[in-house]
Parts: sequence; C-alpha cells; structure tokens
Amino acid sequence: MQSFNPPIRTLMGPGPSDVHPRVTAALARPTIGHLDPAFQDLMEDIKGALRRLFQTDNALTFPVSAPGSAGMETCFANLVEPGDTVIVARNGVFGSRMEENVRRAGGTAIMVDQDWGRAIDVDAVAKAFEAAGTVKALAFVHAETSTGVRSDAAALCALAREHGALSIVDCVTSLGGIPVEVDAWGADAVYSGSQKCLSAPPGLSPVTFSPRAEKAVEARTTPVNSWFLDLSLVMAYWSGDGGRSYHHTAPVNAMYGLHEALVMFEEDGMEACFKRHAHMHRALVAGLEAMGLDMLVPANERLLQLNTVQIPDGVDEAAVRAHLLSAYGLEIGAGLGPLAGKVWRIGLMGTAASQKNVLLCLTALEDALARQQVRLDRGAGVAAAEALL
Ligand SMILES: *Cc1c(COP(=O)(O)O)cnc(C)c1O
Repeated sequence: MQSFNPPIRTLMGPGPSDVHPRVTAALARPTIGHLDPAFQDLMEDIKGALRRLFQTDNALTFPVSAPGSAGMETCFANLVEPGDTVIVARNGVFGSRMEENVRRAGGTAIMVDQDWGRAIDVDAVAKAFEAAGTVKALAFVHAETSTGVRSDAAALCALAREHGALSIVDCVTSLGGIPVEVDAWGADAVYSGSQKCLSAPPGLSPVTFSPRAEKAVEARTTPVNSWFLDLSLVMAYWSGDGGRSYHHTAPVNAMYGLHEALVMFEEDGMEACFKRHAHMHRALVAGLEAMGLDMLVPANERLLQLNTVQIPDGVDEAAVRAHLLSAYGLEIGAGLGPLAGKVWRIGLMGTAASQKNVLLCLTALEDALARQQVRLDRGAGVAAAEALL
C-alpha cells in the first residue's frame, strides 16, 4: 500500500462541494475523547450555530453522525409508525427515497407526483390531503438536487399544519445556500448534509425537530425500528444538561470540520452568503445562455446552488464531463433517472459559489463543446458572466 493523495479538483457537481483549506486544516487537529469536556463545549457550539442556520429555537437540533441519507432516515424512522399514512410530494430522485423510507417504517405513502424539473404543485398536495383522511405527515424536498428545483416550503408546511399533519422537509442542498426558515415555516422535522452549501466534508447530517415532532416521538406506541437513529437514545448523548452519556463515538474530527465551516459561515454572515449564491447563479446562467445553452427549470423555480443545463442535441455528454475532469480538474454532475443524458448539473455550493469557479466552468464547457463541433460564439459565455460579476 501507499499513501493516498487525491487529485486537486474543483467540485461543481451536486455535492460534495469544495472544502475550504481552513476546514481541512481543522480536520487534522488532534483527536480528543468524545466525552472530553472540551469536546462537549464544541458540541454545544455546533448545536447553537445549527439553530441559527436553521432559523429555529428547536431544542432538538444536532448533527447526526452520518451523511444526509441518515438524517432522512432519522426523520422517517422516528416519526412514522406502522399503519401511518404519509403524503410524499415527489419531483425528483429524493422523493422516491422518501417513499421507500415510509414503507420501511411500516407506513403507507400516498405519492403526489410532479414533472421532474418543476416545483411541487401545492394545490395537488391540498387535493391529496382532502382525499386521504388522517395523515401523519407530509414529506417533500425543499431543494431537489436531482433537478435543480426549489419548492415552496412555507406553503407546503402551512398546508400540513392546516390538516393536523407533521411536515418532514429535505433541506440537504438548501441549508447555507438559500434561506431555511424552520420556525417561520412551521416545519417539524428538517434534515440537511454537511457537504453541500456548508462546504464541510461529507459524513454529517444536521437535523432539527420541533416540539410537536418531539411529542410525536414520545407518543409512539412501538419502539423505533433502528437502534442507532432512535432519537430517545441519541438525545441522551447530545443533550447538554450534564447528563451526557455514551451512545456512540461521535466522529470527533469530522465535527471539527463542521464547526470550522460554521465559523466561516458566520464570519461571512448569512445574508452575504445567500447574496453570493444568488449573484454567482445569475452570472453562471447569463454565461450559459450566452453560449446558446438552455436551462431546464423555469426561472422562478430555479435552485440557485444547483443549475440544470440542457445538453444540446448530438453532444456526447459523458465525453464533455470527462474532458472537464481531465483538462480542468473540474467536476460537474450528470443527469439522474429520466434526466440521464439530457442535462448537466452544475453546483454553486458554499465555497464553490465563487467568481473563479463560474469563469472556470464557462471556459471549460466552451472548450469541451467546441471540441465536439458545437457551433458557438467563442468568448460570449465568459463575457456575459463578467458583465455581471
Ligand atoms: C445529497 C442529498 C441527499 C443525500 O445526502 P447524502 O449525504 O448523500 O447521504 C438527500 N437529499 C438531497 C436533496 C440531496 O441533495
């Protein structure tokens, strides 16, 4: 065996995103015990920062020691009991995973499907509520990374409340890139990931649960079907009232990384960070359109941090991505499911949402397309982006 030295990449795919050197430096600090008082202070610090980021007062706010999918599973495993009905609004890959989570928790999923590339239709969800009878929860994805669509979380959470249902919201790609207003929305269970707009390495999943969601967990008549994700056990570890007891060994160094990413986020300030994501998105889209490319999603439903671009006819899309990677060290994402071969997914997440990356991406894409004899106005993409930057 030999030491592994990863190639230097620029990460503009659907995640992970570029990790700032300050964060990688934090990861390399000495490992301490996970019950060390100093580590407990760090845990409290992270919980506080996550509450500010989620814009919530929820006591039950912490990072699950596993990637975003584990945050998803924590929500479903704890809130869905055998026999429960859950409405899942699906407009991409992650809605299907929600359906599977409901089923595995013993519940029944009522699916409300929307075209991939469009926001969830709030009226269609309202109709599903009217037809369904008693519904335990409404689940949906705020920021669909598979399609580049943002749905109206405030309206959907309000609809759930109106019908006495909990809301389970996937904010994996939204948190840190666009506002996630857990308390203002009245959302009940929200999960995210460390490697998208927070620009920390993958492996942690910030979650937050409202008092209503906590009550629903307490009112369960059956034990949660997962020992590791059972909130009643995990909380004995994460609660800060002196009673912290061993549940599992937190990934100590990964927590240093998340902490540093949160420190950097607060140094920039939330508003400035959202503005930067919006600004880079506008510049990237102006550049892509000036190159003659079309976006998949209507302008008012677009996700700023994940841009789906339609692949021109006759282009070998895998060859384009391979050229970006080999010649520029640049990673962008391919389409998933029904969008495979039809779109590229260009991420502008966290540290990766920068002027340097926007210009690199436009330059590299123009080169790759020109190599495939796509006729385009050379230099137009970068010029259009620069005019805005
Ligand atoms: C990335 C992502 C997930 C899964 O997160 P992992 O960290 O890959 O497990 C879930 N939902 C959405 C919307 C995502 O973009």
